[in-house]
Amino acid sequence: RLGELGEELGYKVYAVGGFIRDLLLRRPNLDIDIVVEGDGITFAKAFAERAGIRARCHKKFNTAVLIFDDNLKVDVATARLEYYQYPAALPVVQFGSLKMDLYRRDFTINTLALALNPDEFGQLIDFFGGQRDIKEKAIRVLHNLSFVEDPTRILRAIRFEQRFGFRVGKQTASLIRHAVKIGLIERLGGQRLFHEIQHILMEEDPVPAIRRMAEFGVLGVICPSVCFDAKAEETLLQIKEVLSWYELSFLDEPLESWWVYFLGLLSRLPHKDLQKVMERLDLAQNMRERIAWTFQRVNQVLGDFLRLPHQRPSAIYRALQPFRPEEILFMMATTQREEVRRAISHYFHRYRHVQPEIRGRDLKEMGIPPGPVYAKILNRILDARLNGEVRSREEEAALAR
Ligand code: ATP
Repeated sequence: RLGELGEELGYKVYAVGGFIRDLLLRRPNLDIDIVVEGDGITFAKAFAERAGIRARCHKKFNTAVLIFDDNLKVDVATARLEYYQYPAALPVVQFGSLKMDLYRRDFTINTLALALNPDEFGQLIDFFGGQRDIKEKAIRVLHNLSFVEDPTRILRAIRFEQRFGFRVGKQTASLIRHAVKIGLIERLGGQRLFHEIQHILMEEDPVPAIRRMAEFGVLGVICPSVCFDAKAEETLLQIKEVLSWYELSFLDEPLESWWVYFLGLLSRLPHKDLQKVMERLDLAQNMRERIAWTFQRVNQVLGDFLRLPHQRPSAIYRALQPFRPEEILFMMATTQREEVRRAISHYFHRYRHVQPEIRGRDLKEMGIPPGPVYAKILNRILDARLNGEVRSREEEAALAR
C-alpha cells in the first residue's frame, strides 16, 4: 500500500536499512524505515489519512513516523531530489537520490533497499555490496572517513557484530583502531556516548560486546580504570546468570537488565574514577546519586548479611525493600555467599509482595486515633506476617490492639 500511494503521488518509495537486513537474516523487526524520493511529509500525511492512523512529522528533518496499533512503526525519510540547472534550461531531476541517502549510512549491511512501487515491487537494490557482506558475515563501512564522520559508528559496529555473530572486516577494524588512537571517541558528547553504551548493554548478551570494546581500546579511553580483566568478566557473567534466573522466574515483570550490567561495569571503580566516568557520560544528577547510593548501600547490606547470615524474613525484607530489583540482582551477582543468594531469592519469591490485610481504615474502625502510630502498627503487622507469626486478619487485628 505504501508503494501504491507513492505511485499516485509520483514518488518512488523504498524500504531500507535494518528492516531489509533483518529480512535477509530472517530476524523479526517491527521497525520499518522507508525512504521517499519526493516529499516524505506529504507522503506520510496522505498515508496516515488513508489508513486512519497517526503520523508524527518532523518538518525540520523532513521525516515522519507512522504509528500503527500493533507495535509496528514506520519511519519515513525524504531523499531530497537534487535539481541541476542546465544553462538556461528547465531544472532536471538528478536521479539517484536514494543512492545518496544510502551512502550516508553506517555499514554496507544497512544499505539494502527494496522497491515498493507496484511496477518494480520487490526489487532488491544493493549499491554497496550489502548482500555480499551479509553472506560473508562482515561489518564493513562504506568509506574510510566513516568513523571520522560519526564516531558512534565504532560502538554500532561492535553491537551489530556481536548481535549477528558477524565479524568487523579487516579494513574496518583497522579504521576503528586508528579512530580510537587519534582520539575520536574523546570528541563524542557524553550523552551520545552513554546512549550507545546503553544500547550495547541492552543487547541479548552484552558480555562479548564489552570484551570487544576492551579489545578495540574503547573502554580504556572512556575511563582507563574500567578494565576488562578476568574479575570483571566474571562479574558480568554472574550478572548474565542472575538475569536469566530472574527472567525465567518472573516472566512478566519488566526489568531494565542493561542497568544491572551498567552497575557491574562501574562497580570496581575507585570513588574518584566513578565520578569521572559519570561526568564523562554526562549522566543526570539523580542517576549519579542513585548509582553512588546503590554501591554504598549494597556494601552495607552485604556486610550485614555476612555478620548475621541467618536473618529473619522481616529483616531481609527491610534490608532489600529500598532497592529496585535491578540493584538487588546486581547485589546477588556480586556476592559469593550462597546464603545471601538464597535470602535474595526468598525475597523475590516470597516476601516482596506481602502486605498486611488490615489497612488504616480498619485501625480507625477499631477506635485507634489516627496518627504516626498507624505506620508503626502496620509495620509491626507486616513484620509478623513475613515471619509467619500472624496468618489471618483476626490475628493481625489482635496484634494491632
Ligand atoms: P536496531 O535493530 O538496533 O534498531 P537498526 O539498523 O534498525 O538496528 P537504527 O539505529 O534504528 O538501527 O537505525 C536505522 C538505520 O539508520 C540503520 O539501518 C542505519 O542505516 C542508519 N543509521 C543509524 N545510525 C547511524 C549512524 N550513526 N550513521 C549512519 N547511519 C546510521
